[in-house]
Amino acid sequence: MYRTHTCGDLRLKDAGKEITLAGWVQTIRKFGAITFIDLRDRYGITQLLLGEDLHQQLGENPLGREWVLRVHGIVAERSNKNPNIPTGDIEVRIISFDVLNKSVTPPFTIQDDTDGGDDLRMKFRYLDLRRNEVKKNLELRYAVNRAARNYLHENNFMDIETPFLIKSTPEGARDFVVPSRMNPGQFYALPQSPQTFKQLLMVSGYDRYYQIVKCFRDEDLRADRQPEFTQIDCEMSFVEQEDILNMFEGMIKYIFKQVNGIDYREPVQRMSWEDAMWDYGNDKPDLRFGMKVANLKSAFKKSGKAIATGELIAGAGFGVFDNAETVVAIAVPGAAEYTRKQTDELTEWVKRPQIGMQGLVYIKCAADGSFKSSIDKFYDAARLRSIATATGASAGDLILILAGPEERTRKAISELRLELGQRMGLRKRNEFRLLWVLDFPLFEYSEEDNRWVARHHPFTAPKPDQIETMIGNSPVIEKASEYLQHPYAHIKANAYDMVLNGNEIGGGSIRIYQRELQEKMFSALGMSEEESLHKFGFLLGAFEYGAPPHGGIAFGFDRLCAILGGSESIRDFIAFPKNNSGRDMMLDAPATIDEKQLEELSIQLRIKK
Ligand code: ASP
Repeated sequence: MYRTHTCGDLRLKDAGKEITLAGWVQTIRKFGAITFIDLRDRYGITQLLLGEDLHQQLGENPLGREWVLRVHGIVAERSNKNPNIPTGDIEVRIISFDVLNKSVTPPFTIQDDTDGGDDLRMKFRYLDLRRNEVKKNLELRYAVNRAARNYLHENNFMDIETPFLIKSTPEGARDFVVPSRMNPGQFYALPQSPQTFKQLLMVSGYDRYYQIVKCFRDEDLRADRQPEFTQIDCEMSFVEQEDILNMFEGMIKYIFKQVNGIDYREPVQRMSWEDAMWDYGNDKPDLRFGMKVANLKSAFKKSGKAIATGELIAGAGFGVFDNAETVVAIAVPGAAEYTRKQTDELTEWVKRPQIGMQGLVYIKCAADGSFKSSIDKFYDAARLRSIATATGASAGDLILILAGPEERTRKAISELRLELGQRMGLRKRNEFRLLWVLDFPLFEYSEEDNRWVARHHPFTAPKPDQIETMIGNSPVIEKASEYLQHPYAHIKANAYDMVLNGNEIGGGSIRIYQRELQEKMFSALGMSEEESLHKFGFLLGAFEYGAPPHGGIAFGFDRLCAILGGSESIRDFIAFPKNNSGRDMMLDAPATIDEKQLEELSIQLRIKK
């Protein structure tokens, strides 16, 4: 037997046994004639004791970090126990050992707190993966994978693979393309998701499909994105939105339970897209804390809710508010004692280009009921009190107000809310709050392209009672600036997102399954008949052969793992990730290919090498 135990196995009850271990040298400590070695493998660390006699066997060649050893020895109780590791009660007194392989000195220490920077760790990822921290993340990832599979299997879902070399699927990003040698001048696209395939599987009658699958999107990589990432991709037939919400709420709760031991009993909260935008300034609110947005003035027309507070700020002669499209506020609990320096710093924070505000107005609500604000000149105490009431502020709170164009200001207040939540420790890593966001708009208007675009993707169905509005109206818009008046701006999608702690972890929709409606959708998005046939003829054709009503969802697997692991970064949960420029630092890819390969692919480069 190569080894009898792993480095994580041995306990006090094993004392006296003769055993064999294999692993890597983590540390070496010499005390006079004896040497202690920590031997590490995937399962743990075991202390070895190398006596003087064996020392001589090493000769001139002392052991080094990351050398690979096989040791034969006797388990003994340790005099100096280490309560921090499971094997801490014992050590192995070495009888004989073999050096299986040597190692050069690693470029960083293989420890929890490593001295290696990001780039170095990525370049030597195979060493980084030896670190306990990274290993724990991959173990968690595998646990999430297993839990998802168990749950889906128990619910009759079938894992069916779909191809990677395909024709473009529109999920709103650029495709990665692969040239075809056998078809000169033609290219495959790598799937942005298996969207159309899973729908075709529904047409084929596989009424519950899933796949834990790679997706590829050639996007500009914002902070925490990867050009290739993994989805838990699912589709079901003969379902309504409610069925999907229940099924996948069940899956997430099951994963919570299996992976984190969390019993998430309460039903997942639901919120309309409109409410999310109105109350939190974005469509994936973090509900671990309050600080709801107060809408003092808004161009955003919220159906059924009047902007009752508009007059609170109007007519005081304060141009910044009077001229702004939107004025929104949050009340920060207990922050009235912020110093001038602190409010100045917040003002600088909202002025950063990423946030893009001109400034920040504050009102401090003192304990004695008085107010101190940066707009005292314009607003008397009675008015300040009304604003405080509108924001739900109490004595001791600090009200922060932003004013400007609708979209930017709403986004800014949402960022400010998250920032303050973070600074005040209200976004706790071990607290999980789920949310379904529902009733998204079906279309968004792109002023740049002067046409409607699908907010989710073109296969998403409108709410059943709005199909008429879609079919009965032409998508054409007379004046781009008046798109909000077009009936298409108000059609709601039969779509849903699952949000966890302020992150969109999943999204999906009930699909269109009739050829006519799908054609209407393509034409609403500005596609000619010819173009839609060229791109999606296969799907339109399939819809003519008895397509069942269906819908589905996909979860961002990497992100889900990162959140469950209490981390901000999905990279930590991917064995071999790419950096922010989409490079694999270890392989040094992407890279050029040689002339011969280009020749075979009938490709001539436009850039000079
Ligand atoms: N394919 C969609 C996406 O990747 C998810 C879905 O609609 O099921 O976002």
